Amino acid sequence: MESQTQAKPQPHILVLPCPLQGHINPMLQFSKRLASKGPRVTLVATSSISKSVKAIASHTINIEIISDGSTESITLDTSTDSDAFFENFKVTVSQSLIKLIETQKRSRHPPKFVVYDSGMPWALNLARELGLDGAPFFTQSGAVNAIYYHGYKGTLKLPLEEPTVSLPSLPLLGANDLPSFMADTGTYRALFRTLLNQLSNIDEANWIFCNTVYELEDEVLNWMTSQWPVKTIGPTIPSIYLDKRLEDDKEYGLSLFKPEVDACLKWLDTMEAGSVIYISFGSLASLEADQMEELTLGLKNSNCHFLWVVRDSEHKKLPANFVQETTEKGLVVSWCNQLEVLAHKAIGCFMTHCGWNSTLEALSLGVPMVAMPQWTDQRTNAKFIVDVWKVGVRIKLDEKGLANKEEIELCIREIMEGESGKEMKTNSVKWKKLAIEAVDEGGSSDKNIEGFVEKLQILANMTKIY
Ligand code: UDP
Repeated sequence: MESQTQAKPQPHILVLPCPLQGHINPMLQFSKRLASKGPRVTLVATSSISKSVKAIASHTINIEIISDGSTESITLDTSTDSDAFFENFKVTVSQSLIKLIETQKRSRHPPKFVVYDSGMPWALNLARELGLDGAPFFTQSGAVNAIYYHGYKGTLKLPLEEPTVSLPSLPLLGANDLPSFMADTGTYRALFRTLLNQLSNIDEANWIFCNTVYELEDEVLNWMTSQWPVKTIGPTIPSIYLDKRLEDDKEYGLSLFKPEVDACLKWLDTMEAGSVIYISFGSLASLEADQMEELTLGLKNSNCHFLWVVRDSEHKKLPANFVQETTEKGLVVSWCNQLEVLAHKAIGCFMTHCGWNSTLEALSLGVPMVAMPQWTDQRTNAKFIVDVWKVGVRIKLDEKGLANKEEIELCIREIMEGESGKEMKTNSVKWKKLAIEAVDEGGSSDKNIEGFVEKLQILANMTKIY
C-alpha cells in the first residue's frame, strides 16, 4: 500500500511515437526524462514495433502496445506512399488509442496528457474529446519545422520560382537545402502531405515539444517561440553521454535491428585514436548499387579505416568481394549501437545521411561529419552542419546525381587530414559542451521539461485525480 507521503498525486502522461527508429529513440528518451522528474509515464508503442518493444527493460516507464494494423516493421518507401496507407494507420491507431485511454481512465492512474508524435496531429482532438490535453513532439530540427510551416501555409511557394528561398530567421536556402519533397515535386506526395500536416493545428496546442537545443538554432527558435509555445527539450540522448544524472540510462533500449555490439567495439579498440571513419545512412535510406560502388572506391582510395553499417536489405548492393578484400581496412556490420560507436575514441569522423537523430548525436558527442544527405529533411540538416555549425563538409553530387569516388575521397581527406578538419573538430567540441549544458540542471532543455512537469503537477494536486 502507498504511504501518505508517496500518495502525492503525480500526473500520468502517455507518450505516443510513430513506429520508426528515428521517432521512437527521441520519444523514449523524453519519456525517461519526464519520469525522472516524478510523473508516471507510459510509452504507447504501436504493434508494428511490438517485437522490439518487448526488449525494453525500463524501471522508470510503463509500456503499452496498441494496434496500428501491422505486426511487422513499417518501411517508408514508394509502396507505402499512398493516402490510403496513412489514413488506415490513422483510423487503426485512433481506435486503439481511444480504447486504451478509456480503459486507463478507469484505473488508479488515469492519464491526463498525451505527448504525440507530430506526424499524428489528429491525436490532439482525440485526446481533448476524451478529457485529456495533448502536445505534439517534433522529431525534426526547428529549422525544418519552420520550413514545413511555410510550406503548409503557402508562404513558401511550390514549385519553387527562384533558385534560392529567403524565409524568416533562416539562412538563405538553395533548392538543394530544402526538404527533398519541396524541390523534387512529384515524388512521395502522400508522405509530403503528411509532413506538412504536422503543422496543421499547432495554433491549438498549449505545448509544442521540439527535439533540438535552443543554442543550436536560436534565431529560428526565437521566431517560433514568439508565436507558439515551443519548448526545446533536446538532445534526447541517453544521459550517460550527456549530464549523467539519470541512473541506468545508458542506451535507447529499443532497436528495430539487431546491433553487432561486441564485433564493433572489439574492432574499434584495436584502432588508433581518431583514425576511423564511421559510415551509416540510418534505418530507412536506400542507396543505388552504383552509388554503393562509388562509395567503396572512395573509401579504398582514402586509405582510411572504416566501420560501415550496411543493413541486411542493402547488403546485396555491395560489389562482390568488397568485404573480403577490405578486412584489413574496414568492418562492415548490419547494425551497431551508434552512440557507443560515435563515443569511441577511435572515431575521427562520421559519414552520415544527416538524419536528425544522427546529426544531434554527432553534435552531442563532438564528432565532425561528412554529410551525404539522401532525402526528406536531411538536406536541410546538411546545410546547417556545414554553414551554421561548421562541423562538416557536404559531398557535392556530379552531373549524374552521384557522390562520386573522387569527391568522397576529397571530403574524407579534408576532415581526417586537412586544416579545416581541425577547425571542425574544435567547433564540434564547442557544440558538445552546449548540448550537455542544455540537459544538465538549469540548462535550456532541462528548464523546459521541468516547467512542463511542474505545471502538470500543480494540476494533479488541484484535482487529486491526475
Ligand atoms: N542507429 C543505430 N545503429 C545504426 C544506425 C543508426 O543505433 O547502425 C540509430 C541512430 O543512433 C539514430 C537512429 O538509429 O538514433 C537513426 O535516426 P536518424 O534520425 O539519424 O535517421 P533515420 O533512420 O530516421 O533516417
